[in-house]
Amino acid sequence: MYLNKDICIEGNPILREKCKKVKLPLSQEDLDCLKNLYQYVVISEIDSLVAQYGIKPGVGLAAPQVGVDKRMFAINCNDFLDPKNTKYSFAVVNPEIIGYSEEMVYLPGGEGCLSVVRDTKHLVTPRHYAIKFRAGILDMTTNKIKMVTKTLVGYPAIVFQHEYDHLDGIMFVDKMYPVDEVNAEPLFEYED
Ligand code: ZN
Repeated sequence: MYLNKDICIEGNPILREKCKKVKLPLSQEDLDCLKNLYQYVVISEIDSLVAQYGIKPGVGLAAPQVGVDKRMFAINCNDFLDPKNTKYSFAVVNPEIIGYSEEMVYLPGGEGCLSVVRDTKHLVTPRHYAIKFRAGILDMTTNKIKMVTKTLVGYPAIVFQHEYDHLDGIMFVDKMYPVDEVNAEPLFEYED
C-alpha cells in the first residue's frame, strides 16, 4: 500500500510529465499500482485507518503522484450536494474527457491536493460543471478492465478533472485565481 512517504510533492518533476498510456491487458505491475491507488482513497475515509497508517486523506490519487508516469487514477468521494449522497468510487486507466458543459464552477473553499503542501486559501480553480468521459474501469473482483462511458456532474466531475489533469502534468495550482477574477459560479454557498 502507499503511505505518506510515497506521495510526490510539488517540485518533483514527475508531477509535470505527460503520462504514458497504460497497455492492456494490464501488467501485474500496473494492476498493483492501480489497486494501491484505489486502496489509498478508500482508506482515506476510514478515520481509524487514516490514524493507524498516518496517511493524509484524499478523495483522489493519480499514478504520477506516487512516481508512476502512467495514465491511471482512483477516486473515492461522495456527492455531498446530492440528497442521496451518491458515492463515486472507482479506479480508471486511459481516461478521456469526451464532452463537457460550457458552464464553469469552482469549489468555493478551493481545491486541495496530496502533492501540494503550501497554503492556497482564498484561491479557486474553475472547472466544467459536467463532463462525459470514456475510460477503462477496474473491476475489483475480477481485476479486469472494462471500457465505460459515463457522465459526472458537480463535485465528482471536479474531482475527476483534478485527477485527469495530473496525467498531463497539470496541477490545480496552475489554474488558481482569486474568486472575483474567475468567470465561474461557486458550486455551493460557502462561508469561510
Ligand atoms: Zn492532486
